[in-house]
Amino acid sequence: MPDFLAPLEAERCKLLEEFLGLGDLRPGSVTAVIRRCGKPTCHCARPNDPGHDPQFRLTRRVAGRTTTESFPNPAALRKAQQEVAEFRRFQELSQKLVAVNEKICALRPVEQQRGGWSAQEKKRLLSSIRRRRGKSILG
Ligand SMILES: [Zn+2]
Repeated sequence: MPDFLAPLEAERCKLLEEFLGLGDLRPGSVTAVIRRCGKPTCHCARPNDPGHDPQFRLTRRVAGRTTTESFPNPAALRKAQQEVAEFRRFQELSQKLVAVNEKICALRPVEQQRGGWSAQEKKRLLSSIRRRRGKSILG
């Protein structure tokens, strides 16, 4: 392995380890929908009125259509917010992983080309998985 690839492969390995730390994740975005009851005499019918308590929803696109999910209580909303935030982290990590891989691909000499990770990368990743498993069993 050429030396100039080592820092990039170390960076890739670090990113792969970060994937192992991801929690429950799912795509979508949480939005607050202002509720208007529809009664013409209610304050919510006036322009610029903030309306009634907002209803929180999770929306996401599935096969070109927007699906909506609403939450029965604030705890369910908070759970969904965390899952959505985790999905963003996953996307950021994925972008970084692709970016570092593109650099590696561009620098790797043709004769050194191979599909998998280096032995060192595998070792680090496996030991990291073992560490996490050990942790989760204990606590
Ligand atoms: Zn109203």
